[in-house]
Amino acid sequence: MTQEIESGYLNVDGVKLEYQKIPAASGGLPTLVFLHEGLGSVSMWREFPAAVAATTGCEVLVYSRKGYGESDPVEVPRPLTYMHSEGLDVVSKVLDVAQIEEAVLVGHSDGGSIALVNAGGVQDPRVSALILLAPHVFNEEMCVASIREAKVAYEAGDLRERLKRHHGRNVDCAFWGWNNAWLDPDFMQWNIEEFLAGVSVPLLSIQGTDDEYGSLLQLDAIERQVKGATQRLVLAECGHSPIAINPKRRWRRSHVLSNIRIRIPAPETSPVPESKSLSSILFPPPKEEGVNDSETHRCLKRRVSIKTENNMRLENYLEGRWVAGEGEGTPLFDPVTGDELARAGSDGLDLDAALWFAREAGGPALRAMSYQERAAMLRAIADVLVANRDKYYQIALENSGNTQGDGGLDIDGGIGTLKYYAAIGKSLGDSRYLMESDFERLSRDEQFQAAHIWTPISGVAVHINAFNFPSWGMWEKVAVALLSGVPVFEKPATATALLSYQMVKDVIEADVVPTGALSLICGGGHDLLDYVRSGDAVAFTGSADTAEKLRANPNVVRSNVRFTVEADSLNLALLGPDVVPGSEEFKLFVKEVVREMTTKAGQKCTAIRRILVPTEHIDDLSAALSERLSGTTVGNPRNETVRMGPVVNRAQQQAAWDGIEQLRQEATVVFGGERELALIDADVEKGCFVPPTLLRCDNPVQSQRVHEVEVFGPVATLIPYENSEQAFELGARGGGSLVASVFTGDDAFAAQAAVALGPTHGRVFIIDATVGGTHTGHGVVMPQCVHGGPGRAGGGEELGGLRGLRFYHQRSAVQANVNRLEAMKAQAAVVAL
Ligand code: NAP
Repeated sequence: MTQEIESGYLNVDGVKLEYQKIPAASGGLPTLVFLHEGLGSVSMWREFPAAVAATTGCEVLVYSRKGYGESDPVEVPRPLTYMHSEGLDVVSKVLDVAQIEEAVLVGHSDGGSIALVNAGGVQDPRVSALILLAPHVFNEEMCVASIREAKVAYEAGDLRERLKRHHGRNVDCAFWGWNNAWLDPDFMQWNIEEFLAGVSVPLLSIQGTDDEYGSLLQLDAIERQVKGATQRLVLAECGHSPIAINPKRRWRRSHVLSNIRIRIPAPETSPVPESKSLSSILFPPPKEEGVNDSETHRCLKRRVSIKTENNMRLENYLEGRWVAGEGEGTPLFDPVTGDELARAGSDGLDLDAALWFAREAGGPALRAMSYQERAAMLRAIADVLVANRDKYYQIALENSGNTQGDGGLDIDGGIGTLKYYAAIGKSLGDSRYLMESDFERLSRDEQFQAAHIWTPISGVAVHINAFNFPSWGMWEKVAVALLSGVPVFEKPATATALLSYQMVKDVIEADVVPTGALSLICGGGHDLLDYVRSGDAVAFTGSADTAEKLRANPNVVRSNVRFTVEADSLNLALLGPDVVPGSEEFKLFVKEVVREMTTKAGQKCTAIRRILVPTEHIDDLSAALSERLSGTTVGNPRNETVRMGPVVNRAQQQAAWDGIEQLRQEATVVFGGERELALIDADVEKGCFVPPTLLRCDNPVQSQRVHEVEVFGPVATLIPYENSEQAFELGARGGGSLVASVFTGDDAFAAQAAVALGPTHGRVFIIDATVGGTHTGHGVVMPQCVHGGPGRAGGGEELGGLRGLRFYHQRSAVQANVNRLEAMKAQAAVVAL
């Protein structure tokens, strides 16, 4: 959109002031009035005002003060109260002459101070908000030192030459008017804090951590004393000019802009309603209690079909905005009908810039929140998802071939995990770091001791997920990272990214997470891991092959990036030696194995792959499982009689057939295995179906594949054992798995099995008749328990209640006077991780 820029001179009390005006793109918005810094002018803002105008839709007025740019000159030396006079006498007259009815003052450095003096001293009713870039309210030694350096650069370097391009004949009065004032010994006492109590309009202040002209004490002083609402944006590795375009920080400009336009819809797509002022949009009133509940209710009643959005393009959410990848993108299919649903693509995106944005925008915003506040944010995310639940079930059906039960495991599993972390996060209270309860004595001097604290890591959490749980797989990681205060960069598997995309879109639209806290890339990961750096953490779920490749990324290795893996797993179910056919434990065992084989068509990382059974009972068990499996109706999950749907796509179907072939070399098929299967409401040619398939390996000690090949589908192998010892040895042959189930009525065997299987399994699930009706299921990952497994399963560990926070925190020993440690403890959430 080209903007017709009006330019000329304002006549303010007979003084000619150069100005530019960029017209509004939307009606009903205030004018943004730009107040430049101590060496600035209209032209020195460069294209920033136009970018702000384009982003906000607001009219923009930029002018050069007297003595700057092409405005009338000023006499030097200037009085030390030059900013006072400007704020008290001139700004409102500029608004009169420019006929501005509502203004947001956007001031940089001196301009920020002038804006504060005006808002607090004049309280002009036309000024409705302030946006302050590196403002100062008192002088600091560091500022004077930098101003001295500027003097040297002006006198001996090329600064005069460079400034002359903007100030022309005014160059000397612009420079010395500013420089002499700030270097005057009396200016050390310069202070405008007296005006702050009069500032009742909302303000947003933006400052770099490396600002050479002022420390963050300036923002502290402002926020402490003004009456209106305040927001702050602190930019890491940023100097005095947060708006300068730094090639290494390309995201920063968009970050500043996106903060300025917080909650303003893009004008060209959805204009801001006439009645809304920028201040009300910048600082909206809190949402009313209870609104969500009725909204939830309404949405639950609505059946939504994503069919209307067929062939949609999934965008990526990076640097606080939705952006499409280049090229055609990868198609996502309905695995029942073979229809293309959408395309996802991430080609051509600047992933480096996007990771920087997450680190530097999302990180500080999240770390500024307490655990309790982050917990409330998780709850708000869960509420958004609950309100849209029906839509997600439909997507899970269409893109993953999920039955209602399968969808529930993924969708409600994700929501439940968020709610769980919201609840335990609340108990961490108002603190921003964790601390272990006990101190360690270090020497004879009891005054000097050590404590261990846990602080959130400073980087970004990169989450790479598998196709089988586009909801739970995403939220179980996001919940823990966000509660820890770490921004998330989410990469779902492309094949089923539609659900992750829709959920993230709803959460972003609901505006319940800070800018930069949640990024999403739909489509290939490309060179993503080439840009992670020390302080980041990568959590990967997927195949062992991909894990091996990504974990070995030279950049990951060189930077010692934390890396956790949840990968392939040959989970087992062990029928205890005491359990006889027909017993309660035997029936529970049969039920659980069949459920595990068929839920999500066996595409569950925790699904049972090996079934260990006493040799004398293998025939009975084989018959019982076959009989129960024969009741599994397979087909189109749109038909309510269907109990098992397809696998997710052709590639997974082919991988399942290949895996069955491999197992067949050591085992015989006792049930299923046929390619020509009878389906309900589905075409075997079009759909990606694999029948429930049970195999039997009678020579497990000499066999290899049955212990090593994970068929990611509805497939499991019966394995006989002679005695307990052999059962445990065969269990360990899986090379490390997520979960082992033990069904036994024998207490001694149960305890023996837990200890024997522990070293090779992340979870041991022990069932007898007493818990038969109440247990949570072999394959269901409960957020209270750790999830992960050694060896083949990746060696990772997630969840486990507060234990999950470890991965996103750094533990440090603090050695100090015990009184200091006690004082720190009073501020901390005391935990045992
Ligand atoms: P996969 O092929 O290994 O892919 C896993 C993820 O890695 C996908 O998001 C994939 O993206 C991504 N990826 C591939 N190359 C990448 C790169 N260069 N940079 C960044 N990301 C990259 O696994 P899958 O087929 O989706 O999942 C099935 C496997 O996951 C099974 O083996 C199963 O056991 C395992 N799994 C384990 C658990 C667990 O908790 N232990 C849970 C679920 C699944 P694209 O999709 O774009 O290629």
